[in-house]
Amino acid sequence: MSDVIVIGGGPAGSTVAALVAEAGHNVQLFERENFPRFSIGESLMPDTYWTFKRLGVLDKLKASAFPRKHSVQFFGKSGRGSAPFYFSDNNPHESSVTWQVQRGKFDLMLLDNARDKGAEIHQGARVLEVLFDGDRAIGVRAKLADGQHQDFTAPIIVDATGQSALIGRKLKITEADAQLNKASIYTHYSGGRRDEGKDEGATLILHTDNGDSWFWYIPLPDDIVSVGVVGAIDYLVQGRKEDAQTIFEQELTKCAPMQERLQHAEQLMPAKTTKDFSYRASRTAGEGWVLVGDAFCFLDPMYSSGVYLALKSGEMAADAIIDAITKGDFSADQLGGFGPELLRGTEAVRKMVYAFYSKDFNFGEFLKRYPDCKQGVIDVLSGNLFSEHVEPIFGPMGEMCELPNDITLTG
Ligand SMILES: Cc1cc2nc3c(=O)[nH]c(=O)nc-3n(C[C@H](O)[C@H](O)[C@H](O)COP(=O)(O)OP(=O)(O)OC[C@H]3O[C@@H](n4cnc5c(N)ncnc54)[C@H](O)[C@@H]3O)c2cc1C
Repeated sequence: MSDVIVIGGGPAGSTVAALVAEAGHNVQLFERENFPRFSIGESLMPDTYWTFKRLGVLDKLKASAFPRKHSVQFFGKSGRGSAPFYFSDNNPHESSVTWQVQRGKFDLMLLDNARDKGAEIHQGARVLEVLFDGDRAIGVRAKLADGQHQDFTAPIIVDATGQSALIGRKLKITEADAQLNKASIYTHYSGGRRDEGKDEGATLILHTDNGDSWFWYIPLPDDIVSVGVVGAIDYLVQGRKEDAQTIFEQELTKCAPMQERLQHAEQLMPAKTTKDFSYRASRTAGEGWVLVGDAFCFLDPMYSSGVYLALKSGEMAADAIIDAITKGDFSADQLGGFGPELLRGTEAVRKMVYAFYSKDFNFGEFLKRYPDCKQGVIDVLSGNLFSEHVEPIFGPMGEMCELPNDITLTG
């Protein structure tokens, strides 16, 4: 029997596994794929730096070919670009420059790090179900790489299965955000035009001319660029008869600055669709189980917050787990003690996402009217979600657009 079983080897699962194993505990991690595997979600937030530092992977990232991301730049419906927003203007520290990552290589680096710190990693090993004794999670049933089915037990089971949200969906505690019912179609190109110098690795957010969708442009190594379009499900996919590739091309015709960047580029893979990706579980933990990363909550990709929240929740859960093992207390209260703090961060992102999609709202106008809110907005964009400047921005913001009501966790 191990101390902890982690299901899923994405950024959230690898973070928990690395930190708990480093503290001297016995961790087994089950990942259904064989890494490296493709994943979308390539642009990082600057504040990922602090979890990378704790994980001990900063030197590997600095030595990597991942492009440096100094800034984000927005293009409106007219096609005109704002001045790039440089994170270091706000905080002239090396943590203000982050990376655009190929998730295959990046996730493999984090998984290897967990193994190096002592976690036992099973790849090609799909967890078929979490085993419960009453309300208490006691283990998992896995189909291993050799095809054998085997049960494993541990007093703590961490669900880091991403959008599969194994425990949340089984217990029916996962709820979609009906307002954020978006879809995305994305692909990779080779040879897209990049800006020069410091701006070469910038994330670009470009609106289409009808304002019904927006594109991301994320430069990756080897002259590859990730391009995706996001819009309401009923606009982008439902009621359209065309396939994903055709819809993607139709949206491209509505975005002149994106077309210009891609005119000499070659598409590297068929366009893929994902939808209904904003949801949240009503609790972070139960008796013997904890949710981290997308298995707890995912919000729209607008602010590139997904990997940051996966790393941060992984770190918070690891601290709760290490403490739980020391005390011999595997209760929901102990394992989910970080829930309210994490929720404060995810709610800040959710409100900013609502503001972004609100037809009445414009960040330039907002900051002109409420200059005191600038630091709070910058903190959210950087991933400093727990700063004292963040919460005060939502009163004034709520006067200019409709924001979601505050929510609490049920346990
Ligand atoms: C369209 C789109 C664009 C995005 N863009 C960005 C971005 O630019 N920046 C950003 O930070 N985030 C972005 N994200 C979000 C980001 O991809 C996720 O938030 C992030 O990957 C979450 O990490 P995770 O570890 O929780 O889950 P994942 O990375 O999904 O990892 C979960 C792992 O669990 C494994 N697994 C699942 N079920 C099982 C099982 N039963 N048994 C064993 N293993 C299992 C999977 O194979 C997977 O490897 C985007 C998301 C979408 C949908």
